[in-house]
Amino acid sequence: MKASAFAYARATSVANALELLTVHGERAKVLSGGQSLLPAMNLRLIAPELIIDIGDLAELRGVVVKGGVLTIGALTRHVDLLKSPEIAAHASLLTDAVAHIAHPAIRNRGTIGGSLAHADPASELPACMLTLGATIIVHGPGRERRIAASEFFAGIYETALRPQELLVAVELPVSPKNSTYFFHEFARRHGDYAIVGLAAQAVVNDGRFADLRLGFFAVGDRPLLAGSAGKLVNVTITSAVFSEACSALDEELDPLEDQQATPAMRRHLAKVLLARCVSSLLDRPDLHAGASA
Ligand SMILES: Cc1cc2nc3c(=O)[nH]c(=O)nc-3n(C[C@H](O)[C@H](O)[C@H](O)COP(=O)(O)OP(=O)(O)OC[C@H]3O[C@@H](n4cnc5c(N)ncnc54)[C@H](O)[C@@H]3O)c2cc1C
Repeated sequence: MKASAFAYARATSVANALELLTVHGERAKVLSGGQSLLPAMNLRLIAPELIIDIGDLAELRGVVVKGGVLTIGALTRHVDLLKSPEIAAHASLLTDAVAHIAHPAIRNRGTIGGSLAHADPASELPACMLTLGATIIVHGPGRERRIAASEFFAGIYETALRPQELLVAVELPVSPKNSTYFFHEFARRHGDYAIVGLAAQAVVNDGRFADLRLGFFAVGDRPLLAGSAGKLVNVTITSAVFSEACSALDEELDPLEDQQATPAMRRHLAKVLLARCVSSLLDRPDLHAGASA
């Protein structure tokens, strides 16, 4: 199938893109890498009247580290994140996660801004943003909004972005020096969207978690920063403690049914990932063996 007829405008600056969005609002769509927008248009799931191509706006591309904050421009491509020494040094969870997004051809075009604005609940980057405590920066008519990642994702393909706003950047606190991370996803084949995934960051002291952030994806209509992580912090983890955390996680999940998995399978896989994560970060093989049995 081919997309419905549409008009095309190449934005010459962020201000120009915002002018076009102000005039055309919901009738327009921003084009970044086109890896989600164009398939949706070709399938006629959406039929915008105007495409605003922001691909030439170099000011929206790149990674900068300053004062303990990593700023990533919205047009930074997945491949740039994968190869960025700044990301590898200060948010290594992201380097690992991006390698699981699709295939090289898609990573060469797809952008972080497009992925976050698209808000597929099975995407890796939205969950990473929750885990890493990101702030998403959007520009709209006459003002900037800084939205915590925890407030940004509102449902399947739904976000806090308004039709006249442009996502311009993401800010991440530099990961603490003594932090460690875990990333894993279950997918039918490498590069497929995840059936269930977990992006975690932790600080471990003397065999206990001093901090633990668990960002699950493909477990509901949006990524989940699991509150059940709190059950595992500042305690010695016994099988009883772990089992309580699993029950708390189960209550937080609201998995969907699709061609890939039933809700029951997703619940099971989320707990298997939790076991692998805790066991790997604390170097406790006993927890993995006990919990996933
Ligand atoms: C075969 C295939 C497999 C894929 N597998 C995965 C996967 O495993 N994991 C994964 O996470 N993704 C996957 N993707 C999606 C890919 O990562 C996309 O690149 C990403 O979701 C969207 O980024 P984009 O830059 O291409 O955005 P676009 O397709 O250009 O835009 C996506 C949406 O976001 C809006 N938008 C884009 N940029 C902005 C902005 N700056 N401000 C406001 N709105 C904006 C657009 O209007 C559109 O609605 C896959 C895609 C394909 C085709």
